[in-house]
Amino acid sequence: MSNFDVATSSIGSFRGRLRPYVWSIRSGLRTIRFLFGRFERMCPVCGYRGRFFAYANPLGLGINIDSLCPSCLSHERHRLLALCDAERDLFAGKDILHFAPEAGLKKYLQARKPRSYVTCEFGGRGADLDINIENIGIENDKFDVIICCHILEHVDDRLAIPELFRILRKGGTLVAMIPIIEGWQKTFEDQARQKSVDDRILYFNQHDHVRFFGSDFRERLEQAGFIVDEFTAVEPAVSQCGLIRGEKVFLCRKV
Ligand SMILES: [Zn+2]
Repeated sequence: MSNFDVATSSIGSFRGRLRPYVWSIRSGLRTIRFLFGRFERMCPVCGYRGRFFAYANPLGLGINIDSLCPSCLSHERHRLLALCDAERDLFAGKDILHFAPEAGLKKYLQARKPRSYVTCEFGGRGADLDINIENIGIENDKFDVIICCHILEHVDDRLAIPELFRILRKGGTLVAMIPIIEGWQKTFEDQARQKSVDDRILYFNQHDHVRFFGSDFRERLEQAGFIVDEFTAVEPAVSQCGLIRGEKVFLCRKV
């Protein structure tokens, strides 16, 4: 091999080593370009039309483009819930309990004219009630609808789900949403892997998550007595409203 060949081969290998850095920077710059929106969308929670902002991806490190409504701060899941309500009429005239109420969704729910609307939060923080979802100090059969969006991955759902079943009236509905890995038949949870913040971010994608539900989430609901129905994010709503493809609202009925 000549000196020229050696020099050419070293330049080639240097370029090869550089390539992933270039790709990574290019991909990051593309993301930055769209932090304040890529396409025009519509928000069924507040009626806003226009560009949405980027926000955290609930299933992995990184961000979702066109995720956050700049008007009511709804995320994909809140918009899916409003679409589900438009089709299934979940809230009008009902006694509702809403866990960890999000401001935009709260306004939407109040405008739907429920019979009563009560918010709750563990530790208070401006909600109507201070409730520990694992041990709810409320009598049986109290509500027609309970809204529980991205709560069960933070707590012991083996305690929480039966409690939610208990305080629902017969004929009532638990509206549950969670980050779910449909490709996993079994929920991943391991107490040895939730001791540090880094562990919880590594295994469960957020500093205060303690599991990633798999498709057996449905069985966990059924074991408590619920009949489980689902509302799924599909086209054209996905592209019109900026939804996560295939995301689910679990409608869990107490019959
Ligand atoms: Zn909105």
